[in-house]
Amino acid sequence: ELPKERRSSNYEKLQKKHPCMSKSANVTAGRIHLPVSPTCNIQCRFCTRRFDKSLIRPGVSSLVLKPEEAIETIERAKELCPELTVVGIAGPGDTLATDAALKTFALVKDKYPELINCLSTNGFCLPSKVEEIAKIGIETITVTVNAVDPEIEAQINEFVIDENGVKHEGVEGAKLLIENQLKGIKKATELGIVVKINSVLCPGINDEHIEEVAKVTSSLGASIMNIIPLIPQNGMADVPAPDCTLLREVRKKAEKYIEVFRHCKHCRADALGIPGKGKDLHSELYKGRKE
Ligand code: SF4
Ligand code: SF4
Repeated sequence: ELPKERRSSNYEKLQKKHPCMSKSANVTAGRIHLPVSPTCNIQCRFCTRRFDKSLIRPGVSSLVLKPEEAIETIERAKELCPELTVVGIAGPGDTLATDAALKTFALVKDKYPELINCLSTNGFCLPSKVEEIAKIGIETITVTVNAVDPEIEAQINEFVIDENGVKHEGVEGAKLLIENQLKGIKKATELGIVVKINSVLCPGINDEHIEEVAKVTSSLGASIMNIIPLIPQNGMADVPAPDCTLLREVRKKAEKYIEVFRHCKHCRADALGIPGKGKDLHSELYKGRKE
């Protein structure tokens, strides 16, 4: 098992350069999201991207790139945003539901070894993919964990589709999702990968539980947590969005166990730029491209 000192030194090194890990880097470092992962293997109730319907969520990512196209995109992105430090993949579906993201990262490592690789996932496929992630050299992953209690998770997640194509609904699906997420997070941190946790704050559902998510994931080696307010839509359109007071309270409780990041900008799956500064450059990046 990786000693705690090494875990935190990886994190400290990254924190200086990663815009989603420190307030200072948030206004100095640039990141690009490569939209290469079209499909998802779970269904969060708040997500408008249905598992088996349209592959691209309108307004969230204007297009899906093939791994080779994504590499060409980085070249142009570096011209538009010279501060580019991080290459992230965050959808528009799940990054581990197909092999497009890992293929892309392997190409990025080869061509741009100076760029930090950041992969965002729901964590369902993490246990079977984490060794490959480490082998490619992906420095950091973000895992979205909205609950560590299946009864609560089932109110947020509708179903999961396992690697054999079998659908698991309700509490049974939620239990599988949580098991895989926690197993994957533990293995990732043991392999020296810096782990960030995203949690969507859903008032009346997990607002009193996120503290427990912080406690459990931190004990598995996660370094930082980002608590994001729910955008009420789809199956959770009737759940209210959290107000600033609730968000502040929940962040404060989580902070007892893990460092909390407060500058998340809800980035699109095809974002480009310095998150805390100026406007997003994705429309300039893809100008003239058919959507
Ligand atoms: Fe939507 Fe992401 Fe949940 Fe998949 S993991 S259903 S893309 S929010
Ligand atoms: Fe990585 Fe998420 Fe930040 Fe994108 S928004 S760079 S995927 S942590």
